[in-house]
Amino acid sequence: MSKLVLAINSGSSSLKFKLFKVPSEKVITSGLFERITQKMGAFRIKTETGEVRRELPLPNHEVAVNVLTKALIEFKIVKSLDEINAVGHRVVQGGKYYNDSVEFTDEVAALVEKLSPFAPLHNPANLTGYEAFKKILPDALHVAVFDTSYHQTMAPEDYLFPIPYEYYEKYDIRRYGAHGTSHKFIADEVTKINKGKPCNLIVCHLGNGASITAVKDGKCVATSMGFTPLGGIMMGTRTGDLDPSVFYFVSKLEDKSPEEVYDMFNIKSGMLGVSGISSDVRDVENALLQGNERAKHTFDLYSRRVADYIGQYHIRLGGTDTIVFTAGIGENVPGIRKQIIDKVKDAMGIEFDDEQNSLTRGGIYGLLSTKNSKVKVYVIPTDEELMIVRDCVRIAENKKKK
Ligand code: ADP
Repeated sequence: MSKLVLAINSGSSSLKFKLFKVPSEKVITSGLFERITQKMGAFRIKTETGEVRRELPLPNHEVAVNVLTKALIEFKIVKSLDEINAVGHRVVQGGKYYNDSVEFTDEVAALVEKLSPFAPLHNPANLTGYEAFKKILPDALHVAVFDTSYHQTMAPEDYLFPIPYEYYEKYDIRRYGAHGTSHKFIADEVTKINKGKPCNLIVCHLGNGASITAVKDGKCVATSMGFTPLGGIMMGTRTGDLDPSVFYFVSKLEDKSPEEVYDMFNIKSGMLGVSGISSDVRDVENALLQGNERAKHTFDLYSRRVADYIGQYHIRLGGTDTIVFTAGIGENVPGIRKQIIDKVKDAMGIEFDDEQNSLTRGGIYGLLSTKNSKVKVYVIPTDEELMIVRDCVRIAENKKKK
């Protein structure tokens, strides 16, 4: 018998949803709430007759959840909300507590709240989403799917920072990583492509936020993101890794508070900061094509940082079988992929198919390496919502067995 499972991804001011039929994994509907907490919000949902768009005030995530559940009935996507058997909630920070997705209980909710200082924009939104759905669907199975849990297999040498150990002991300050749902989804897809054969894999999740993960036989051994989503490679608006003294000197020279510098590193840096144009790679690429010098620096710096991580992980894994590009930039920007691969191809024995690279955009799968390449290079579209739903199904089955 088929069942319905809803995947929820609450951001600081957004809520994305996808409703799946399982086991077929067919998407029944999907959509998005934007500008939650602003004066006027926006809502989009796919219905049988096309996409419906509405502008309406969305003071918080609870209101968005109420609008969504009413819309599911109004557009006859479900007859009754009881048809939804499970809801999977993405949670950005699970700290050291979770190495897998778990049933979302009040006890889990308390820990998610406790971890909010580590993800102040995301964990509170994830929690409000959960609480609102729990009220409306009290009998459904609720599952928390943590962005951090896939990275819990890292060894201390990969997650500790070289600061006084007491800060790790007192405050749990260490590397947690991010985008774990996407990295795991890609690792599972590669396992399927390889028919289960063990594999050394480097996953480049290049979206607005971005991280690179080294995967050995399906398990994460190292990841670029750090304590918070500010670490690792350069991103749309975030710095990625920096000499920590930059923080001190900028604060001193500009007479800025720690909060101001921290915000500047989070929302005014990365592609936006270097290019002075935009955090959206499309705008930077357009400027590059018109000969803009800073746009060139931006692309060069971005590809250098990604390439350096690939090189580091290539050594770390003792050789690489497969590299995968995924997420907004990884799936859609051949120019950046080419720049990255050009910087590592000689050392890694990669033969890159430029034509295939140019053709692979718009969220499609593609093999970008030639037959003779020592490393396979793929574009694989990520699907974090499907991963969330698969985790819900797995946890429901485990619960049944108990
Ligand atoms: P996030 O989920 O972290 O917000 P995404 O994975 O959606 O980010 O990626 C956003 C980035 O991907 C932006 O820099 C955007 O420029 C780029 N991007 C998304 N779609 C396209 C596209 N069709 N063509 C070129 N770039 C794209």
